[in-house]
Amino acid sequence: MKNFAYAKPSSVEDAIAALGDGADVLAGGTTMVDLMKLEVMTPDALVDITALPDLSEVTIGDGRIRFGALAKMQAVADNAELARMAPVFTETLWMAASPQLRWAATLGGNILQRTRCPYFRDTHYLQCNKRDPGSGCAALDGGRTNMHAILGGSEACVAMYPGDFAQALIAFDAEVVVEGPSGERRIPFADLHVLPADDPSRETVLGPREVVVAIEVPRSPAMRGSYYLKARDRESYAFASASAAVGLAMEGDTVSDARVALGGVASVPWRARAAEDVLRGATFSEELAREAGRAAFADAVPLEGSAYKIPLGASVVAGALMTARERARQEG
Ligand code: SF4
Repeated sequence: MKNFAYAKPSSVEDAIAALGDGADVLAGGTTMVDLMKLEVMTPDALVDITALPDLSEVTIGDGRIRFGALAKMQAVADNAELARMAPVFTETLWMAASPQLRWAATLGGNILQRTRCPYFRDTHYLQCNKRDPGSGCAALDGGRTNMHAILGGSEACVAMYPGDFAQALIAFDAEVVVEGPSGERRIPFADLHVLPADDPSRETVLGPREVVVAIEVPRSPAMRGSYYLKARDRESYAFASASAAVGLAMEGDTVSDARVALGGVASVPWRARAAEDVLRGATFSEELAREAGRAAFADAVPLEGSAYKIPLGASVVAGALMTARERARQEG
């Protein structure tokens, strides 16, 4: 591992001052330290933000839920009030990683986690536009693509965004609260991540001196009828082959609000608005859920290894909606 400088500021202002060229933020370290050991990330300096005050709280207000960026994944997964009023958030956290990792990893780090593309994480592979812009793409150049994106990819990169919690956030119109040299700014979660296009090395719109301090989500009736379904190779400690974070609000049998987001299939957290359009205002049925699942993948561009994700993903969306419908019915 390359040598690096280390700072542990005790205020947001000091953290911003310590950041800049060659420096990276360290929180739980479950992505950063991993990638530094592999020499995929080689920062000159780490700014450890774990001593910053008041960033570990989860506040459930009348209008919004606020997640502090340093809240630990497992602590939030164990929040009984959150599980009652918005189960999809709890489920995306429970189904991620392992207990040890969930107790170390923070929510801020979780939303910024990096791809698991094996060619990105192994520097023996020389072709990776994300790690080394302009070098090519080993996945597209005859590599394995079974865990790569079928939505949002480009000719430069088809890496998959691997997170789970992000799907619940994008489905429910979350905002990311960021502190930087110019003060606070709020970024719609849907705008935080950047599609790979021809420069996959740039993954978010965050500036080099900006720190994520919180994530806020407006409360909505569809949260109570929400559910996360994750298909994966084994039942724990595995990334999604396809997943769906969904929410339904109902008036009788009519869908008054629908939220659908996809995981395991796209370059960035992915809101499936075409699926939502199928559902909103319609009478709910299993066939409608299946139609929404098909609509979610109408624009998919599969590779040979990832084509299985289309029927799997459509089925996951439909299955998630069926459970969400039951939850919404119990609430109604
Ligand atoms: Fe690198 Fe993206 Fe290609 Fe993977 S898919 S090898 S991350 S450029």
